[in-house]
Amino acid sequence: MTGRQLTLATTTRPTLDSDIAFIGGGFRTTTFLASAPALLLRRVRVYERGTTMGPGGFARYGITTTSIGSRFFKHLDLSGPFVPRGRSSALTDVARAEQPVAMDRLATALTTLGRTLQDALGADGVRLGSTVVAVHADRDRHRVDVRLADGSTESGRHAVLATGRTERAHPELACWRPKVLLSGTVISTAHRSETKDRLLAAGGRPVVVAGSSHSAMSALQILLDLRAELRAEHPGAPLPSVQVVRRGPARLMYDSADLARCGQVPGRERPFDPASDVCPTTGIVYRDSGLRHRSRALYCALWAGELPGATLVDAPVIAVAADRFEEAALVVQALGYHGQAPDLYVDGALVRPGDSPDRLLADDDGALLVNGVAHPLLSVLRVEPTPLDRRDNTAYASDLYQRLAERLAAQFVEAGA
Ligand SMILES: Cc1cc2nc3c(=O)[nH]c(=O)nc-3n(C[C@H](O)[C@H](O)[C@H](O)COP(=O)(O)OP(=O)(O)OC[C@H]3O[C@@H](n4cnc5c(N)ncnc54)[C@H](O)[C@@H]3O)c2cc1C
Repeated sequence: MTGRQLTLATTTRPTLDSDIAFIGGGFRTTTFLASAPALLLRRVRVYERGTTMGPGGFARYGITTTSIGSRFFKHLDLSGPFVPRGRSSALTDVARAEQPVAMDRLATALTTLGRTLQDALGADGVRLGSTVVAVHADRDRHRVDVRLADGSTESGRHAVLATGRTERAHPELACWRPKVLLSGTVISTAHRSETKDRLLAAGGRPVVVAGSSHSAMSALQILLDLRAELRAEHPGAPLPSVQVVRRGPARLMYDSADLARCGQVPGRERPFDPASDVCPTTGIVYRDSGLRHRSRALYCALWAGELPGATLVDAPVIAVAADRFEEAALVVQALGYHGQAPDLYVDGALVRPGDSPDRLLADDDGALLVNGVAHPLLSVLRVEPTPLDRRDNTAYASDLYQRLAERLAAQFVEAGA
């Protein structure tokens, strides 16, 4: 029997609080469970630090999605408890959309799905307002302990980490930290009026956006919207210009290599390499890493000098544009996301602290990799952004939900549970 098969093969099994503990009850957990209704026959418990099951981070942002609506629900299995959801227009409108959708529509659709899950799992199955601070996996005892911020500990047979991503303070911006705002803050609906106040208080000194990715373009759009509102509300008040600092030419998504060949503009965008930048399945150029939809249009207008009040600045490293950062009233950091997770312990040893600079790696079936070895009791549900070398291949993680569901189900069969 392999280490992974041993997982649940125990004869004297203590009473555990759950069969599968999901840490985080956002987009991934909700859509994964809705793709595998059979798992709901197990004792599933979801720990969510927020007050709602379903929308996760998507509830916070006042922007349009990057992906088309249907992509978010492509794995949905509308059987079992999810049958009524097949008639919910909040969900089906987004699930059928072949265009990006407003984030609040996506959040509403996910909340609808989350409610169904809550009903299916019962009061015991969803712990809202529960922040997990550490997860301890013990192979000898075939159990996982989930430690909560309130000091309590609950146990399970298996834990799935689905805690999402966050922006971490970027070291290259350290000397301007007091005036740095994360891009996620700028695009959040909760901070909109605070950001607006800061633009007005800038007294005409510029705002610098570091980065030229989707998050940078989303932040730029919000800054321009807020500037327009301020101009109408405070005629004559000095308002900041926005400078977008790009570290290199952006990637723009094209539907095929042929379209890219005739559409690419030198200087505006990075020339694509047919060997590495074309998705082998779809033929799309920069399938995942490229700017698309609204972000693409905004970036192209910015590059062409067609956005009043905004300019593009080249700086291969931040230090090259240090004067601009120095002069700026506000700096917006849009330099990427990092997976977030509680402290992870294996057999008593801390294998990954929550603030680790290392990525949270997993096998193709979602098993957590600890020092390169798949762990039998811990799984990861797409916590990290897609690895750079896999970003433009549509096959990446396309069967993760199915493989993870099969692996979890197999563990219970193996254990005779
Ligand atoms: C601005 C923005 C736009 C994006 N647009 C797209 C897009 O268009 N298409 C796309 O595919 N992806 C997009 N993404 C990527 C996006 O993050 C993921 O696709 C998706 O949100 C990930 O779902 P998740 O479940 O991992 O994270 P989330 O949906 O954020 O869920 C994580 C949940 O875990 C909870 N949690 C975290 N830590 C703990 C803890 N310690 N204890 C208990 N609960 C915890 C959180 O409260 C949250 O509810 C975007 C990301 C951002 C930031």
